[in-house]
Amino acid sequence: MSLLEVHGITKSFGSLMAVNGVDLALEQGEILGIIGPNGAGKSTLFNVIAGLERPTAGSVSYRGRSIAGLSPDAVCRLGIAKTFQIPQLFPRLTVAENVLVAALYGRGAGLHDARREAEEWLAFVGLGEKAQMPAETLSVPERRRADLARVLATGAPLILLDENMAGLNRTEVEAAVVLLREVRTRGRSLVVTEHIMRAILGLADRVVVLNYGEKIAEGRPADVMRDSAVIKAYLGESYA
Ligand code: ADP
Ligand code: MG
Repeated sequence: MSLLEVHGITKSFGSLMAVNGVDLALEQGEILGIIGPNGAGKSTLFNVIAGLERPTAGSVSYRGRSIAGLSPDAVCRLGIAKTFQIPQLFPRLTVAENVLVAALYGRGAGLHDARREAEEWLAFVGLGEKAQMPAETLSVPERRRADLARVLATGAPLILLDENMAGLNRTEVEAAVVLLREVRTRGRSLVVTEHIMRAILGLADRVVVLNYGEKIAEGRPADVMRDSAVIKAYLGESYA
């Protein structure tokens, strides 16, 4: 049994098929990349898995248990936590309090343990110095790291990161890749979306490519990058 199994997930908004019949599976300890141009359906697929959107059709199971249709908080307590493409922090709370909330409600930790968890994960993502600042004072890359600390603090074994490396320069991407590999070393499994392929090459074991809601390729990152359907989706017909 895979850790996560997605079968035939379809999500339509009116006549638009944002996600169309997507299958995927994730093994324990794996880092799976989901790439695709803007509008390909990456965030919608994540929202369905995390319980933020109800699928039009298809099934999602986690450790063999069906989770489609569960609320986001129920999905989180079962073990799946997601960051947002635009980080959703409580702006007036401190950075530490934002992470504390995740440890308290996501994991159900007592206050003492939750404080320790929050402190540990903030240090892990390199935001220890900013712990007592209001979240609204953080830069966009810092917000993404705070969002990462939040999902880690929930204790969820499966982490979904929605373009968590967007807007980072090359050096910052390299640092983020090292950090995410360390997250895996600490026993978490990861599904990571990016629209920039470069970011995911050094990170993912396997990549799924979406285009207009459909899976058009799947495989090792280096192979997928050479796939003509993928090149066409990204660069247009003339390049393929
Ligand atoms: P990606 O994350 O790959 O950029 P999205 O999942 O955000 O793609 O969007 C896929 C498609 O679904 C886009 O055409 C987008 O405009 C549309 N879409 C996403 N969310 C909604 C929504 N709540 N209502 C209507 N259309 C939506
Ligand atoms: Mg998106």
